[in-house]
Amino acid sequence: MVNAEIQDYLDSGIISGKAYSELIRNEIKEEISKLDPKPFLATIIVGEDPASEIYVKFKEKACNQVGIGNEIFKLPANITQIDLLSHINKLNQDPNVDGILLQLPLSSHLNEVEATMTISSDKDVDGLHYVNVGKLQLGMDGFVPCTPNGIIYMLEKSNVKLKGKYAVIIGRSNLVGKPMIRLLESRHATVTVCHSRTINLTEITQKADIIIAAVGKANILTADMVKDGVVVIDVGMNRIDGKLVGDVDFEKVKKKASLITPVPGGVGPMTISMLLWNTLKAFKMTRK
Ligand code: NAP
Repeated sequence: MVNAEIQDYLDSGIISGKAYSELIRNEIKEEISKLDPKPFLATIIVGEDPASEIYVKFKEKACNQVGIGNEIFKLPANITQIDLLSHINKLNQDPNVDGILLQLPLSSHLNEVEATMTISSDKDVDGLHYVNVGKLQLGMDGFVPCTPNGIIYMLEKSNVKLKGKYAVIIGRSNLVGKPMIRLLESRHATVTVCHSRTINLTEITQKADIIIAAVGKANILTADMVKDGVVVIDVGMNRIDGKLVGDVDFEKVKKKASLITPVPGGVGPMTISMLLWNTLKAFKMTRK
């Protein structure tokens, strides 16, 4: 069951991540109001990348909104790998910290994979540790990366049938594309993943019932590339003349799609809501 606002959006062909997020955040807030102590998220940000700082602020605001305790650890841009790992280990050992988020990307002198794998898999609310990646592949309970988890949530709540459907994912990152394959295939969709070396992308996308665009290039998916009735999820976040746009030519594709997510107001807010969800889950796994 979805509320009237979400249904109005669906009736107009829109999957509103913003509206779903409000629903989830209210549920999380309600659950957290009954908890003492409260779940706690530690965020590490290295250097002063403006985009990363904005994302971290959004996450801080969302934590405050639902009552998740949080602290942002700002580490200097020139921090050594050893010092970064030691900082992560301190948070691993702190029983009052439930989730650890390492804001990516890191500066090029740091080893991102090693840093990510140093986060305890029990506190890995981004779902990027190999233990959680493995659990997802094996169908075991673990942390699922926030963006694909939010997408599956929206598809299921919007009553999009996945079983037997042909889903095409554009983009094969560890953060989005790869976990998305497993989440769709485990729900019995037939999945094709496309990437920068895919030949004849249009021929593939034209057959898709569901398309997930996670590339990072504006207008990579245009109306001629989709069939009537397709469901389109736009993960992309691109800045054009200061305006945030997705990977999809929204206005024209919307005319052919049965459902589509907007940018902003689609996948973005859901990603943050799933981070809150994972932090609450981490708390319940170890402290409740
Ligand atoms: P990524 O790691 O840069 O991966 C991009 C993928 O797109 C790669 O697999 C790449 O192929 C593929 N690609 C590049 N050019 C292509 C082309 N012309 N045709 C087909 N595929 C192409 O990106 P990501 O981290 O998954 O993020 C993708 C986008 O989603 C970005 O805009 C990012 O900002 C956004 N994002 C949004 C959220 C959110 O919450 N809304 C969360 C995460 C990411 P190769 O593998 O061959 O290089």
